[in-house]
Amino acid sequence: MTENEIKKIYELKEEGKGYYAIATLLSLSPSSVKSFLLRHPKSELEIVHHCKNCGAAISQFSDGRIKRFCSLKCHRDYWNKHRKIADRKSTYQCECEECHKVFTSYGGKRRFCSRTCFQQNESRKWGNKNG
Ligand SMILES: [Zn+2]
Ligand SMILES: [Zn+2]
Repeated sequence: MTENEIKKIYELKEEGKGYYAIATLLSLSPSSVKSFLLRHPKSELEIVHHCKNCGAAISQFSDGRIKRFCSLKCHRDYWNKHRKIADRKSTYQCECEECHKVFTSYGGKRRFCSRTCFQQNESRKWGNKNG
């Protein structure tokens, strides 16, 4: 069952349609619509959440908390993947030549913490030359 079909099921149910009518309209089997609605009663009408790692639909906690992963394994896999991506970018601690603030630079060393500091430094250079 796709997310779209699930949304439609709830919509049609809201309109007062029965399992059989819903199933016919969506070309699904009445028994699967019925069992779906029994497992997912009206109180869970909100959007179906999918596992951020494998994309499987997740049945949510009954107390309203939102589960983002179908299993602990998916949770771990997801964060492992993302940590690796973050590690690939090396970080450098640099001191700005203009304001002398220590800042973190990604992927290479930089002389200035910001474009403003770079411009200030440039304009002073030009100012000295003119004055
Ligand atoms: Zn998963
Ligand atoms: Zn600076």
